[in-house]
Amino acid sequence: MIDEDDVIWAIKTFTSLAIGGTWHLQGVGVYERTAEDELTMIEIHHAKPTEESKGLFESHEYLNLLANELGWRMRQEVRKAYDYEGKEMNIPEDRIGEANVCSKNCGTIVRIEPTGPGKVHALIEKGGICPICSEKGFGKDWDGIWVVVDDTGARLKMLAKMEEE
Ligand SMILES: [Zn+2]
Repeated sequence: MIDEDDVIWAIKTFTSLAIGGTWHLQGVGVYERTAEDELTMIEIHHAKPTEESKGLFESHEYLNLLANELGWRMRQEVRKAYDYEGKEMNIPEDRIGEANVCSKNCGTIVRIEPTGPGKVHALIEKGGICPICSEKGFGKDWDGIWVVVDDTGARLKMLAKMEEE
């Protein structure tokens, strides 16, 4: 799965950084060389997935594999995350773990969680708009916050409705 050229690329790229130096991988994020043989992901940059731009280096997972191949450690200490438009994602640290249920009874549960590679966050648009039913399901203090969505309840409800019809 790992290409030899990619390993050479990784050696060149990783070792060219001084310890404390950072490196920005377009559409993925920012990495810092935190030790002789250690990279730490410190920012996440979400890129809009497009058909043609599914290049190998665009995935954090692949980078992780390369790092392992070289005997490097890959840590995560994400301090900032940016959405598709390059805007910083609002994930209030002091509210991590808070959860809420859509008041319009669509069955959606949202939770404030730290971001990480492969984690999917959805935005509660201004007005407390529920990312699943698009109704005003959340209070003012949830405006503009990026949340992890548990739509299990919403999907069950939809299934039950379809069976009824
Ligand atoms: Zn809802």
